Amino acid sequence: MDVTSATTPLVRLSGVNKHFGDLHVLRDIDLEVDKGEVLVVIGPSGSGKSTLCRAINRLEPIDSGTIELDGEPLPQEGKALARLRSDVGMVFQSFNLFAHKTVLENVTLGPVKVRRTKKADAREEALTLLDRVGVKDQADKLPAQLSGGQQQRVAIARALAMHPKVILFDEPTSALDPEMVGEVLDVMVGLARDGMTMVVVTHEMGFARKAANRVVFMADGRLVEQATPEEFFTNPQSTRAKDFLSKIL
Ligand code: ADP
Ligand code: MG
Repeated sequence: MDVTSATTPLVRLSGVNKHFGDLHVLRDIDLEVDKGEVLVVIGPSGSGKSTLCRAINRLEPIDSGTIELDGEPLPQEGKALARLRSDVGMVFQSFNLFAHKTVLENVTLGPVKVRRTKKADAREEALTLLDRVGVKDQADKLPAQLSGGQQQRVAIARALAMHPKVILFDEPTSALDPEMVGEVLDVMVGLARDGMTMVVVTHEMGFARKAANRVVFMADGRLVEQATPEEFFTNPQSTRAKDFLSKIL
């Protein structure tokens, strides 16, 4: 590792702004995520959390400011953009698995198509990853035959199969039945402990306490507050954060 890569944040947003028509959804966002860091993003519905995640893997273009991955500006198009999508994994609230592909195929598809991994190698790695998230025995089933918690763990294995530099989780447990939340969070805590760089939009305080290095609180498109989980949950500074926490805790 050279000196710059040891100090360059993995993700860096500077002065990022984004509008949807008249709606100013991201306002002057400055944010850095270091390698191996787990950042939890919390905030009321509509505050811009999903847009922030989508901007980081360029599912949403931004109006001004810069976003860099590993010191390089995000590519706009073509092969470089496809490569970016494999460097930045994404796990959504709604699993987004391919319904007509088996669990195993869901995990091997990206590596084979985008990374040009040999099928046999992709399959072997997929089985290892499915084992890691505890669903190896479901490999030949279709997503609909799995529980929500199992599907979300497959989605995590699918993201990992691309060897991403960072994984963005957008409310990964909010569509799950309560009894399945824990099994997905456990997998995420494991990834965090293994040193994966993660940006996690979640209101799961238990996860934040266990795994997050830092919590950022968003409201109305701004980063209002940043702190350690301990500081944030016990002693929020802003009125907005206090208000929000009093509603969810
Ligand atoms: P959060 O994830 O914090 O709930 P979002 O980033 O999804 O917030 O949305 C921020 C704001 O932008 C909301 O007011 C939402 O309605 C609006 N918004 C999100 N996506 C679009 C879109 N594609 N077109 C227009 N408005 C959008
Ligand atoms: Mg959202």
